[in-house]
Amino acid sequence: MTQNVAENEARKSGKEGMDVYRVEINYRGIFQKRLGYNISHGIVYAAHSEGKTAFSNGRYSDDPQRNGIPCANFAIVSGSLGEEELEAIASAKMDVDEADVVLVLDDTMAKGLEPWGHYGIRPINQKVVEGGTILFVSRRKPAELAKLMERRPFTYRLAVLPGDRSFAGLWYQRDDNTDIRVLAAVARVAPHIVDMESVVRYIRGKFNDEKRVEAAREAYDSVAVSEVSPDDGMVWPYEKPALPAWQDFDEGMAVKSVKRGFKMGPRGQNRNPDFRRGTSRSQRPVIRFDTCIKCTLCWYDCPDECFDPTTDGLFDVNYEYCTGCGRCAQVCPVDDCIVMVDELKFDSNSSPWEDYTVDPEEYVRRMEEIKGLSREVPSPVTGMGERILERKESVPFKPKGGK
Ligand code: SF4
Ligand code: SF4
Repeated sequence: MTQNVAENEARKSGKEGMDVYRVEINYRGIFQKRLGYNISHGIVYAAHSEGKTAFSNGRYSDDPQRNGIPCANFAIVSGSLGEEELEAIASAKMDVDEADVVLVLDDTMAKGLEPWGHYGIRPINQKVVEGGTILFVSRRKPAELAKLMERRPFTYRLAVLPGDRSFAGLWYQRDDNTDIRVLAAVARVAPHIVDMESVVRYIRGKFNDEKRVEAAREAYDSVAVSEVSPDDGMVWPYEKPALPAWQDFDEGMAVKSVKRGFKMGPRGQNRNPDFRRGTSRSQRPVIRFDTCIKCTLCWYDCPDECFDPTTDGLFDVNYEYCTGCGRCAQVCPVDDCIVMVDELKFDSNSSPWEDYTVDPEEYVRRMEEIKGLSREVPSPVTGMGERILERKESVPFKPKGGK
């Protein structure tokens, strides 16, 4: 590691050799809240068992949480500072400027983060320091993830812990060992923060279960680590958020009303530009406009009012506001007409209906190619796993479309 948070802090304070390490834990609001907390607390307990000082907190701007919004917790660890000194340095603000390890519990966040109040989309790797590590729980190859992130002017590491995104809920922890597997992965990529022995001690102390220790050791060995160079990634296409300082706030507060107005077609409905939620999604609804029977149910049932009626009686979806809840796919009565598809398979939030009207057959061909034949069937109990159904074939293109 050529530079890290400790060095930066030391440089700022003039105290050479001071070690302060930060871990940023990025998770999906509500669905992964308990998981995120378990991990930050686990790092703190494991670090304490090594005689270090450590504490955790959450990012203030993420509360109140909403389903799927990108949120963050932090664990801050020092081997040399006492509690008061560490608090003085690291706990005065509810966010971090830099992190030695950035954890990402849902790999679709590689596309960027946009908390519940829209003030820009920031890259997931914005906080990682030179020589630091961004660690994903993912089934994807490192190169696939690296190309979605912003190009940084230095080399850092990208680690992948093989696994699926684990969703449960606000209070309930889906007990699939994701928390202890991630702790072991942190020990693998940053043993100067917590080492594997202290992670094992923590697991034994909390669970008294050797099977979990085995799962943690397996995770430790399965982490793949690669380097990301300044040539990897993209030039960030979005405006980055700049939070106002407290001195910048006006006296009093006004929530601006949304102007009334409506026109037919894409983005026809007036929506609040400050509450876009396009990065809250792990999956997006893909619509087969050619088989739609214009029943209105998707438009009627979408909890975020994402559908716009079109001039030909269809319903377009606005992906800048869609949270990926899946309700429209659930209520659509037509076989395979709305299907939820992995968000990382798309690189644009443009109107699918506009795309369809240009060349209906080509739109259907492309969407079917992206969808493939596997369909995820969510469990009726949140966080209790999904079934995969394999279709024999896709629904053929219907040339005239609609009813
Ligand atoms: S998934 Fe469907 S119902 Fe849910 S927010 Fe998106 S468009 Fe609306
Ligand atoms: S997409 Fe499905 S739910 Fe929406 S109007 Fe068409 S048939 Fe109805």
